[in-house]
Amino acid sequence: MEVFEFSEKIKSAAEAAMHKCKGQFAELDRLCEYNGQRVLKAFIDNRVSEIHLKGTTGYGYDDEGRDKLDKVFAQVLGAEDALVRHNFVNGTHALTTALFGVLRPKDTLLSVTGMPYDTMQEVILGENCGSMRDFGVNFSMIPLLSDGMPNYAEIARRSPEAKLAYIQRSRGYSLRPSFDISTISKIIQAIRSSNRDCVIMVDNCYGELVEDKEPTAVGADLIVGSLIKNLGGGIAETGGYIAGRSELIEQCSYRLTCPGAGKEVGCSLNQLRGVYMGIFHAPEAVCAALKTSVFATAFFEQLGFETFPKYNEKRTDIIAALKLGSPEKLIAFCEGIQSGSPIDSFVSPEPWDMPGYDSKVIMAAGAFTMGASIELSADAPLREPYAVWLQGGLTFPTGKTGIMLAAQRMSEKGLL
Ligand SMILES: *Cc1c(COP(=O)(O)O)cnc(C)c1O
Repeated sequence: MEVFEFSEKIKSAAEAAMHKCKGQFAELDRLCEYNGQRVLKAFIDNRVSEIHLKGTTGYGYDDEGRDKLDKVFAQVLGAEDALVRHNFVNGTHALTTALFGVLRPKDTLLSVTGMPYDTMQEVILGENCGSMRDFGVNFSMIPLLSDGMPNYAEIARRSPEAKLAYIQRSRGYSLRPSFDISTISKIIQAIRSSNRDCVIMVDNCYGELVEDKEPTAVGADLIVGSLIKNLGGGIAETGGYIAGRSELIEQCSYRLTCPGAGKEVGCSLNQLRGVYMGIFHAPEAVCAALKTSVFATAFFEQLGFETFPKYNEKRTDIIAALKLGSPEKLIAFCEGIQSGSPIDSFVSPEPWDMPGYDSKVIMAAGAFTMGASIELSADAPLREPYAVWLQGGLTFPTGKTGIMLAAQRMSEKGLL
């Protein structure tokens, strides 16, 4: 039974990869069931009912669906409270709101896991754009060690200067390891060994529901992410969340809306049903994305490429980087992913000069939600080491097929 025609080489590599992935997939199925039950329990415990799926307009006073949604997210994320809003335009905006919510002039923001994600650098250090620096917040950073791991001794030594310590869980556009919950726990212990009071915030993007708990379970005060990644389950149309300690969530809400009004305002329009359905579906969508990622790394290793992480390494996010080694291969790979997308399969991605990058970037995304990276997507800066960052896959069968089509395109161009 074949719908797409793959070369023998690709078919046999895929079969070998599937064989290698069996153990991982069984573990992922268990994770999916456990997290699925946790999500279901949060709906039941909070007595979600049909009325909560309908939104409000105008000021949004007494928006029970919005307030209930915050509680459901808080329970799933192991937090006292949460701020879940479609008004967060992306993950960067939610992270920005949390930083400005908590920090004041002369405070120090200490990033303990190297330089934050690309878009956060402008937020923190930009000039004359209303950045943290413009408002007099100091920034300080502890580089990662040469093996990409945190420098615990230096973290303990320098934490006393921090009002807020910042941890980034996922690798971003680097080849460093993503930090799993047990590593985050060690980082937090190092911070707490010399500073009992600072706020510990985790950029949790791409990490939600990949393990059986979140950084809040090991002492993070605030965790932040996007709804067009994991927790939106591929259904939320836009938005982001901040979750953590109640008094901090309140401060963040004053920054998101206005001091005084905070969480009590902000209408939910017609967005609630999608966000409720999104988090309900998220354990399954994250599991499909993880299987796609595990398959992609096993399959490309089979084809002779280096991958980060390796297929059998423990995951803490849905990202995989494949070191393809040449610009031609990157382009062919992204063309193949695009050709296997449900939306815009017929367009051909081209490298372009993306703002904030010193080299051209090529991206493949044919998603139901613009830019949603819980859906199968790939992007690659055209520079050494010519690696592509790959994430998402709403269903495993379509994710796997997308990956095989990427290899098929490379093969057709004589690059495999
Ligand atoms: C995706 C991501 C963000 C936020 O990016 P947006 O495109 O603004 O949603 C922040 N940090 C990391 C590590 C990310 O992967």
